[in-house]
Amino acid sequence: MQRECDVVVIGGGPAGSTAATLLAERGHKVVLLEKESHPRFHIGESLLPANMPLFERLGVADEINAIGMNKWGATFVSPWHDHTAGFRFADATDPSMPMAYQVRRSEFDEILFRRAAAAGAEAYENARVREFDLGDAHTPPSVKATSADGTVREWRAKFIVDATGRDTLIANRLKIKRRNPDHNSAAMYGHFRNARRDCGELEGNIIIFWFDHGWFWFIPLKDGITSVGAVVWPYYMKHRDRPLREFFLATIAMCPGLQERLAEADMVAEPEATGNYSYRCDSCQGENYVMLGDAYTFIDPVFSSGVMLAMNSAFAGTDVIHAKLANQRAAEASARERFNFVMREGPKQFSWFIYRVTNPTLRELFMAPSDKWDMQKALLSVLAGDVFGRTPIQRGLRMFRLVYYVSSIFNMRRTFKAWRRRAFSIRDDSKDAPLPRMTG
Ligand SMILES: Cc1cc2nc3c(=O)[nH]c(=O)nc-3n(C[C@H](O)[C@H](O)[C@H](O)COP(=O)(O)OP(=O)(O)OC[C@H]3O[C@@H](n4cnc5c(N)ncnc54)[C@H](O)[C@@H]3O)c2cc1C
Repeated sequence: MQRECDVVVIGGGPAGSTAATLLAERGHKVVLLEKESHPRFHIGESLLPANMPLFERLGVADEINAIGMNKWGATFVSPWHDHTAGFRFADATDPSMPMAYQVRRSEFDEILFRRAAAAGAEAYENARVREFDLGDAHTPPSVKATSADGTVREWRAKFIVDATGRDTLIANRLKIKRRNPDHNSAAMYGHFRNARRDCGELEGNIIIFWFDHGWFWFIPLKDGITSVGAVVWPYYMKHRDRPLREFFLATIAMCPGLQERLAEADMVAEPEATGNYSYRCDSCQGENYVMLGDAYTFIDPVFSSGVMLAMNSAFAGTDVIHAKLANQRAAEASARERFNFVMREGPKQFSWFIYRVTNPTLRELFMAPSDKWDMQKALLSVLAGDVFGRTPIQRGLRMFRLVYYVSSIFNMRRTFKAWRRRAFSIRDDSKDAPLPRMTG
């Protein structure tokens, strides 16, 4: 039997649950469909200060505070430098968002999902969507979900939200998902007990360690477990010659600073790996649908931007839906324009840094930060996720980029070498080449 509702939200991760909550609170009849059952594991544990106002607006700030490890900043460790570099979000251009959290995504995502149900969304777990019809200007869309026990439910809706993350449900159907030609990386990660952490306020900092084939994250969670992940160039992953666990530990051994922190630690579960996650879709919306968060784009986790961008996209996307359902043509047009901007601008601001994060010139600037011309404040604002034009950071960012380019010109040989190395590293066929020796 086909039921009726206003909006079907497919995917109960941060983007989908946020969208479902906002729409239900605005009085729409919402169905939220999640293929798994919460709590479930998900990677992406480090949040940004720009998440905090979103928690307040959703009414989940206290619950997130209860599960979150306070994260006051980020620490960068380079094997080519004899010191570390620490950044505090409180030193950003806008000091009003001085902290964020590290969270277990199983707990975090469950809070957001239950919040949507409490707001009035009809929320189903173990409900996987395979069949759907996007409709058109005259025909409403429809969605079919199959439960683990084989029950099939079908809805006719006025609007569909694709929040299926890297499953990119609609983009796959429309064949509009494109591999990012400028970036390519893979990751392996695991949880450790008894990792050596910093003390006091620094305990919750994310620590980024560079090494020859990419970089590592070190994310301390509240329950004493530390999440560790290696983000590597695809060629490195393709040279894997042993089981993942051994390969992951051997990779950690290449980074003495990290290995030392894990000397007394045990891995508490088998590690996982993922690859080829850098993509973007040609568009993020159509007549009867929007694509949120990772369902539209994902580049790289180095600046912990994924969850913030996903939740933020839900705020902008639901404005489009609300205006459309209320038949407010002018408001819908401007909401659609704003939504396009939000979906492109956030990833764009981060991508300039992401593409260069393993470049020695950028590394120098991170390791010896200068606040001349407000460069450091602007950089910190990006690290805090304050990238949507609310805070005046463009001048500082322009100066930062200028210094980067001038420094690249003054170090021509190094720049050329780094450019060649990167071009090699992001190639998909790099596995056929011998494993390169890469230092510095
Ligand atoms: C290695 C790695 C490390 C990362 N680290 C960080 C980090 O530290 N900080 C950070 O902010 N981000 C990080 N990210 C990114 C982050 O994981 C994502 O950006 C974020 O989870 C996106 O949220 P989302 O709601 O768009 O998608 P998701 O969180 O992926 O949620 C999508 C949901 O849709 C469900 N779903 C999928 N298909 C269907 C279907 N057909 N029917 C029903 N349900 C479906 C899924 O089960 C899932 O629950 C990392 C990513 C990677 C790959």
